[in-house]
Amino acid sequence: MRQELQRSEKLNVLSELAASVAHEIRNPMTVARGFMQILSQTKVTEEKKRVYTTMVIEEIDRAQSIISDYLSFAKPQAEKLEELDVSTLSLKLTNLINPYASMRGVQISFNMEPSLVVRANSEKLIQCLVNLTKNGIEAMPSGGTLQINGYKQSTQVVLEIKDNGVGMTPEQIDRLGTPFYSTKHKGTGLGMMVSYRIIKTFGGGIEVTSQPGKGTCFTLSLPAV
Ligand code: ADP
Ligand code: MG
Repeated sequence: MRQELQRSEKLNVLSELAASVAHEIRNPMTVARGFMQILSQTKVTEEKKRVYTTMVIEEIDRAQSIISDYLSFAKPQAEKLEELDVSTLSLKLTNLINPYASMRGVQISFNMEPSLVVRANSEKLIQCLVNLTKNGIEAMPSGGTLQINGYKQSTQVVLEIKDNGVGMTPEQIDRLGTPFYSTKHKGTGLGMMVSYRIIKTFGGGIEVTSQPGKGTCFTLSLPAV
């Protein structure tokens, strides 16, 4: 019974919103294709070429962001649960997120207790952590430090992702995880939804505390092995 519940929830992560995500990707593709078609005609001025090319690149970037927030690390059939050492996972996370962090003047500071083991799927968990750390980095437009803390608390492994960025109002916190809710110019509004769902499938939860102008802390808990 429990097994079945988990399985159906796991399927939800990838399939429930797949249709609307596909639609969101198809839009920029259609727009980009239209511009390319115009560009392939001979009588296009240099000025228009420049404008259209920029727009095609923007549309492709948009499709790329949707894919990376939604399923960039999930291999097909990567539903397998395994025992994962959180510090090994953090190392993978660092490699993935460091270029993005340093580009935006953000330092990542890890503080992990040894031997934190959870039962999860590595790619999905990394997808979730990348989404949360990316949000933390994006919340600090003039740079700063993003803290990632890991510790054990009774039966739970707790991971905190803490920024001292723009923060959120209670109304904004309420809307977190709603598909396509984004306050960013080029946001997808998929990162939080995907993260909440992934953690739920592993029997865990995500809590958030935030204050406008002060920063945000996402607290992720998973049953310890
Ligand atoms: P996106 O990042 O594409 O906007 P997400 O689902 O990842 O979509 O996040 C939704 C919204 O939640 C963001 O647009 C932002 O307003 C808010 N948010 C998420 N994380 C943070 C954070 N660490 N600090 C401030 N706001 C955040
Ligand atoms: Mg995001």
